[in-house]
Amino acid sequence: MKVAIVGGGIIGLTTASQLNRELRNAEVTVFASDFNDTVSHVAAGLFRVGSSYSGPTEEITRDWLRDSYAYYDNIRKSHEASSAGVTAISGYMFANSSPETVKSHWMKDLVPIYRRVTDEEFQLVEGNWKYGSFFSTLLTECKLHLPWARKKLEENGTKLIVKKVDSLRELVSDWDLIINCTGLGARYLCNDRYLVPMRGQVFKVKAPWMKTFFYGEIDTYIIPGFNGVVTLGGSRYFGSENKKLCPYESKAIRERCENLLPSLKKAELVKEEVGLRPHRENNVRVEVEHIVNGFSKAIVSFNETLLISLVHNYGHGGYGVCTAPGTAKYAVQLAKEMHKSTAKL
Ligand SMILES: Cc1cc2nc3c(=O)[nH]c(=O)nc-3n(C[C@H](O)[C@H](O)[C@H](O)COP(=O)(O)OP(=O)(O)OC[C@H]3O[C@@H](n4cnc5c(N)ncnc54)[C@H](O)[C@@H]3O)c2cc1C
Repeated sequence: MKVAIVGGGIIGLTTASQLNRELRNAEVTVFASDFNDTVSHVAAGLFRVGSSYSGPTEEITRDWLRDSYAYYDNIRKSHEASSAGVTAISGYMFANSSPETVKSHWMKDLVPIYRRVTDEEFQLVEGNWKYGSFFSTLLTECKLHLPWARKKLEENGTKLIVKKVDSLRELVSDWDLIINCTGLGARYLCNDRYLVPMRGQVFKVKAPWMKTFFYGEIDTYIIPGFNGVVTLGGSRYFGSENKKLCPYESKAIRERCENLLPSLKKAELVKEEVGLRPHRENNVRVEVEHIVNGFSKAIVSFNETLLISLVHNYGHGGYGVCTAPGTAKYAVQLAKEMHKSTAKL
């Protein structure tokens, strides 16, 4: 069976690796306009999911998170953890406006340690914080993880091809199965008006003394990554497609992070980056779509001429790195079921 995956960010690569595991005889090719400059490369890669994150149902979302955590945790325990860019990390969230800001019902049930902070722990940072939580979790550094994942895929026989796909229909005649993992690119490929860019700007600084992550209010975060590089963030601009650095934002981010932890004033700049998160209103889209005579359908009847059947896996917003393996597993499950029902493959 010939499978085309479109998208070479974290979603496309984890989907390809899941396919290799589940459909051992499949010939998998990943197409991407770019493998080296994606939104995934900008992410801090912390495994933390906000309360608003949602799949089609509560139960499915919980499965995605559990499967994702297990996937990365297995890598963390393995001898490949350092080359794959996966590690354990723990840290704090502080807030003043509401106790809800520091809570996540998803994380509470997922990670080994999740608790309220003690009075002494409020003193770890500057500011008179009222609410706080502490939890242990995982971190996936995409600048290491994506090249590692690509190498693994190629060793398994997966082809990785740099190519911009102008329409998913152009692949129909040559492929038995198409999986769409194009992130924000799906706005054009699927004409999806629910998909909106959510702009984020971050600093990468050298601060090897930082071992713990910290969140404050107004999207302030300090997340240590690999090789002493720490991500300082951030921002969330709904609907903005501006990929240029904004000097006012830079100043505000640095100020907020340094106010929280003055030791960061000594941190040397590595680079500043902007990424457009693929935010999808309602929920992340992991579903099958059949296109018949130009119309999108969930089910195809026998007398209709099927033009294209595909599986979508996009719209992970600010949580795509951490939830990629779970949605990949679900997308591959849908692909297998679709296979059987259309009896095409
Ligand atoms: C500042 C910032 C911080 C973040 N921090 C975190 C974090 O700590 N934890 C976390 O889990 N998430 C985080 N995220 C979110 C995370 O980065 C995204 O959810 C995730 O990267 C989305 O992955 P993706 O593979 O869908 O998209 P992308 O990484 O954008 O990949 C899309 C791929 O599709 C390809 N493509 C698109 N259109 C086409 C086309 N027409 N033809 C061929 N190829 C195409 C692109 O070239 C690319 O290869 C952060 C994001 C930002 C901006």
